[in-house]
This record gives sequence, C-alpha cells and structure tokens, in this order.
Amino acid sequence: MTASLVLPRLIRTGSGAFGEVADLLRRCRVVRPMIVTDSTMAQLGYVDRLIAHLDEAGLAYGVFDATEPEPTETSVIAAQAILTAGLDGAPYDGLVALGGGSAIDTAKALAVLGPHGGRMRDYKVPRIVDEPGLPVIAIPTTAGTGSEATRVTVITDPENDEKMLCMGLAFMPVAAILDPDLTLSLPKRVTADTGIDALTHAIEAYVSRKASPFSDQQALAAMRLIAPNLRRAFHDGEDRAAREALLIGACFGGIAFSNASVALVHGMSRPIGAFFHVPHGLSNAMLLPAITRWSIPAAPERYADCARAMGLVGEAVSDDHANEALLADLQALNDELDVPTPAGFGISPERWQQLRPLMAEQALASGSPGNNPRIPTADEIIALYDEVWR
Ligand code: NAD
Repeated sequence: MTASLVLPRLIRTGSGAFGEVADLLRRCRVVRPMIVTDSTMAQLGYVDRLIAHLDEAGLAYGVFDATEPEPTETSVIAAQAILTAGLDGAPYDGLVALGGGSAIDTAKALAVLGPHGGRMRDYKVPRIVDEPGLPVIAIPTTAGTGSEATRVTVITDPENDEKMLCMGLAFMPVAAILDPDLTLSLPKRVTADTGIDALTHAIEAYVSRKASPFSDQQALAAMRLIAPNLRRAFHDGEDRAAREALLIGACFGGIAFSNASVALVHGMSRPIGAFFHVPHGLSNAMLLPAITRWSIPAAPERYADCARAMGLVGEAVSDDHANEALLADLQALNDELDVPTPAGFGISPERWQQLRPLMAEQALASGSPGNNPRIPTADEIIALYDEVWR
C-alpha cells in the first residue's frame, strides 16, 4: 500500500511566535490578507494584537470577526461577501485565520469558495478538492482540532443540519503559527473538549486502516504529549508547559489524522454535533470509551500501543492488560473532565431515539467508519448510539 503525506509549508512554534506573523505572510507572498476570526478573539485583544503586527509591517488587511462556533454555511457566506468585495477595489490575496477550529475551518472554506464559487455541499466528500485555493495562514487558539495542519474543513449545511466533511489539498493551510500563549485564556470546558478531540484524532489515526509509518509516529507522539498534560491544563489553565505540550500534541494529532483519516468516533460524532449542537470535542468524548470498547477486538495490538504511548502501562505489559487500562482511563478522563452523558447535556431521549437511523446514515456517508478497524453496519451504529445513550 502507498501512503501520501501532506503538510503545511511552514510551521512556526513557541511562545512569542504570534509576533512573527508579518514575516510569515511575507514568506508566503501574502500582502493583502483578510483576517477571519470570532468575537471572543476580538474581546480578548488578540485581533488588536494581530492588526498591530500587520500595521507595523505596513500591510493592508480586512477583518471578518463573526465566525460562529461549529460554522454553518450561512456564516461562511457572510464572510464571502467581504472577501468578494475586496479591499479598496483590490482582491485579497490570502486569509489569516485566528481562533479555534471554527475560525480556521471558515477560512479554509472561503479559500475555495472565493476563487471557485458554488455552495459548500459541492465540495463535500467523496469529492476531493485539489484545486488551488487562496493561501491560509492558520493561528490556532485552541489545542484540539489540528485544523492548522489538516487538509480538511467541516461546515454544516443549514438546510439539513449535515456536518459536511470536505477534504483535499485546497484545504491545507500554507503556514501555521503555534503560540501556546494564545491558549492560556481557554476556559476549562473548552480545554477539556478540545483536548479530548486531539486525543481522539491521535487514537483514531493510529488504529485507522489507512495508517502509515509516518502517521503512526505523529499519532504516538501526539498521545505522549496529550495524555499526561490534558488533566494538568484542565486543573491549572496557567500551566504553560502543559499548554505548550497540548498545542504541539494537537498539531501532531491533526497531521496524523489528515494523513491517515479518522474513524468511527468521528463518523458518529459529527451528526450529534449537527443535530444537538454539542461542541465537536465533547461529542467525541461522549463516544470515545464505548466505541473504543467495541473496536478493540479488531485491532487489540494497535489499541494496546495507544495505552503504552499514553503512559498508562509499561512496555512489557500484555495487550489485554493494556487495553483494560486504556478503557478504564478513557472513562476516568471523562469523569475527571466533567464530560456529560447525552442526557446530562440536555438532549431529549425521544429525539435521540428518532434521529438514530439518520445519524447512522450520515455517519456512514462521511466515509469515516470505513477506516475503523472494525467496520460497522448501519444497524450496529444504531446499537452503538443506544449504548452511548445508556
Ligand atoms: P471553536 O473554534 O468552536 O472554539 C470554541 C469556543 O472557544 C469558541 O467560543 C471560541 O471563541 C473560544 N475560544 C477559542 N480559543 C480561545 C482562547 N484562546 N481563549 C478563550 N476562548 C477561546 O472550537 P474548536 O474545537 O477548536 O473547533 C471546533 C470546530 O472544528 C468544529 O466545527 C469541528 O467540526 C471542527 N474540526 C475541524 C477539523 C479539521 O481538521 N478541519 C478537525 C476537528 C474538528
């Protein structure tokens, strides 16, 4: 089997890297960027800091700061109007995404809709979007999605609530800045949800049927960084070392899954997010223990490697014992990070029950369950939704 690797051209990391944004833009030949961000970034003063860096470098820019969490196509279209209008009659030549996965995914969608037009649903899988888009420079402020280093964007179709997975080279940022200082302000809940999202990327990339030696190394490195630091950052948001480890780990997790694909957890998670407005990382967290338990028999040695990389057991421990430790820790992590059950989140049991067949259909259509070590039928996915509810 061959494997194909796709990465951003430039990644700059470390405390203070945010201050080098103008230099990065120069290296990417972007002179008139549109900033894509959200109101929280503006309130935190991050947008002013970005603008100050661009002013200092003499760069002209536009700003769209109304990105919505878990973006729908509607909010992307609002941003598209600004992109199309251009700046003083001249077109924007790049996008700077400042924020979590929602801002970065919005910028990626614009990078394609801007030059090529159409609706987002025209670009969803199974289509692979390799046409060149506008260059995106991604500055993540959550340590979760890894979107700064993935050839993926996720946009919800407002007409049917489908969280559309869109993939291809056009969605890979040209450059990324990983400055852990920007993540110090993350609230506890977002720290937990995004951290479990990153851990899920790493585990699913490692057990994916499309895993390669390259993605394996990124996935294992991600688990080594995320597992020991997520609880630390959750309990002490000011823990800089933990924040930095999580940001780098999340980026590794993104690289791993972007090159190996996610699997059943993500396939089942997107419909929960779209129908019940559960943040992406949280819906992954609700599913991760049960889906891992169901999947282990098809790849016990791979899941055991995950337990070892997470530091849950030593190298000499048997696969069975390692997998018991993995399942126990995933549940303990959810408990410690206050992850609610679907009922605890406030989802109505009747609506969950009623939507299970459609959610299973959408999960299968995304293609992600086909990468799982144990591939489910639609009925098995419905049964797993039942189990997760219980
Ligand atoms: P998010 O971007 O939706 O942010 C969550 C909340 O945290 C928002 O209110 C945001 O304003 C706030 N926030 C972000 N950074 C902050 C900071 N430093 N301080 C304080 N508040 C901050 O969350 P996310 O989990 O990063 O992104 C979720 C989206 O990413 C979903 O739509 C999901 O489907 C998508 N996703 C994309 C990929 C990909 O590869 N493209 C992968 C996984 C998930």
